[in-house]
Amino acid sequence: DPRLQAISEAISVIPHFPKPGIMFQDITTLLLNHKAFKDTVDIFVERYRDMGISVVAGIEARGFMFGPSVALAIGAKFVPLRKPGKLPAKVVSQAYELEYGTDCLEMHIDAIQHGERAVVIDDLVATGGTLSAAMKLLECRGGEVVECACVIGLPDVKRQPRLNGKPLYILVEPR
Ligand code: IMP
Repeated sequence: DPRLQAISEAISVIPHFPKPGIMFQDITTLLLNHKAFKDTVDIFVERYRDMGISVVAGIEARGFMFGPSVALAIGAKFVPLRKPGKLPAKVVSQAYELEYGTDCLEMHIDAIQHGERAVVIDDLVATGGTLSAAMKLLECRGGEVVECACVIGLPDVKRQPRLNGKPLYILVEPR
């Protein structure tokens, strides 16, 4: 896709953030570039508009920057998957492993109905642990996760583009 090169170039790399040795992929500069931002959303919309998807789930916080635009354009609802203690109504929780320690995602239990087809969106996939927890949340309420989608995927994931048996759709590799 000829749009991917400019999308990749619109992402900036911040060395040693948030700690020494990490090359942080910063999508805020992609959001500043109207063409690259719109092309990113359009590529997801073109892919998901005719797949019978009624739920777009976004992972806090950077999944919130792409998911709602995609949801509106394909006629789906948007479901926020949030860090613990943020959602006010009854939730389901899913813990997952980090490099050091664990983290957790939560979803309102009434956000999705049994049998609904869903896509999960985030900015970046590294180990896949975060997306995997997100898939479990949707699946435990009877949702069918059709695919996970990320703007950026590490080269390893890009070569093995499946997660929990479901396809993983990635636009670009880290710069
Ligand atoms: P994973 O669970 O190992 O796949 O890590 C993915 C999660 O870490 C996503 O929620 C990302 O937003 C976040 N993440 C890790 N590295 C970066 C980065 O360089 N830029 C932006 N987000 C990152």
